[in-house]
Amino acid sequence: MALLVMKFGGTSVADIKCIKNVAAHVKREADAGNHCAVVVSAMSGQTNRLVEWVNEASPDYDEREYDTIVSSGEQVTSGLLALALQAVGVKARSWQGWQIPIQTSEAHGSARISNINGDNLRSAMESGQVAVIAGFQGVTGQGRISTLGRGGSDTSAVALAAAIGADRCDIYTDVDGVYTTDPRIVKKATRLDKISYEEMLEMASQGAKVLQTRSVEMGMKHNVRLLVRSSFDDPKASPAAGTGRQSEVGTLVCNEDEIMEKHVVNGITCNRDEAKIMLTNVADKPGVAGKVFGSLADAGVNVDMIVQNLSEDGKYTDIAFTVPASEYDKAMNVLETSKEVLGYKSLRGSKDVVKISAIGVGMRSHAGVAAQMFAAMAQKGINIQAITTSEIKISVLIDPAYSELAVRTLHTLFGLDEE
Ligand code: ASP
Ligand code: MG
Repeated sequence: MALLVMKFGGTSVADIKCIKNVAAHVKREADAGNHCAVVVSAMSGQTNRLVEWVNEASPDYDEREYDTIVSSGEQVTSGLLALALQAVGVKARSWQGWQIPIQTSEAHGSARISNINGDNLRSAMESGQVAVIAGFQGVTGQGRISTLGRGGSDTSAVALAAAIGADRCDIYTDVDGVYTTDPRIVKKATRLDKISYEEMLEMASQGAKVLQTRSVEMGMKHNVRLLVRSSFDDPKASPAAGTGRQSEVGTLVCNEDEIMEKHVVNGITCNRDEAKIMLTNVADKPGVAGKVFGSLADAGVNVDMIVQNLSEDGKYTDIAFTVPASEYDKAMNVLETSKEVLGYKSLRGSKDVVKISAIGVGMRSHAGVAAQMFAAMAQKGINIQAITTSEIKISVLIDPAYSELAVRTLHTLFGLDEE
């Protein structure tokens, strides 16, 4: 018997037929004797529709009312799933964030969970009743409904799993796990049996959209094992938790020590949400980089890759760096308005770049991974515009025209192609 949190995303509860299918997955686990808490998203498209209504009613809206409105999608699905479970003979009831309660900060629209009291839930679950919980929502200290930011149901699920000490948190979605790269780009992409939290975090922040980054951070912090799997697999054909066959149905996100078979690189990502900015003829003296990046930080711009040229004359240098494409205009504005203070000659930028990353905890113990990667790219004639590395990641900035070729080349280079 396991204490299980099961989370279903928007596409998994898109209509009543889907919700009945979800009920069949939950029934399988409950019938096997597992105690289940189920976290649901709103039906797909519903949250977007609610957000549109808010904007139509008042573009300059009160954020507390925004949360009242957009949290309602999850309320509907929690009630519907409880009904669908009861209809197939599984005891169940719905829970809204405030009923548990899931306590959050006052930051409406992107609240952080501060505390969850799992006592009520646990006793309901131990009595054999499935708890169906509205994801994405909580309650503030002021007693108002809050939401956790888009995609926040993943975070609800992981936080609940931590709060009730669940054995595992199963994230059901429309893909059957985490792949070595985007299967739409590389046909030979393979599903990973296991991936470490750290790698998953890097993959998520580089654009792999299976899990919300914050939920992975929370899983890592509280040691909650996450199983990413598809709700579209046949509920009856799937093994129930505790049968030891779980790796057949999805990808387990877990601690590095749980992973026996280690590859040097486990994933290749391609992030198109990047922009490049170049400053030429910046004074080559102490304090200048501090000024440039300080002014960007003050404006809330996240800088990622940085390249500074060696100055030939010892007086001037060029600085290039990347920012998220969504922050490009803001960054250019800041730099233009502080031209005098920063004292550069020209400012240029472009959104026509992509960042390709190779990710793997195995890099820690292997030398020469970067060299191998650069050589393979050179052989295909792909020019590298900037580089950054961390202990478990190497990223290069390249021309978007080469992105598919680059991803495929690295996928093959690191032995990730399906046999
Ligand atoms: N329904 C919310 C959203 O679309 C939360 C979630 O699905 O995770 O962002
Ligand atoms: Mg989601």
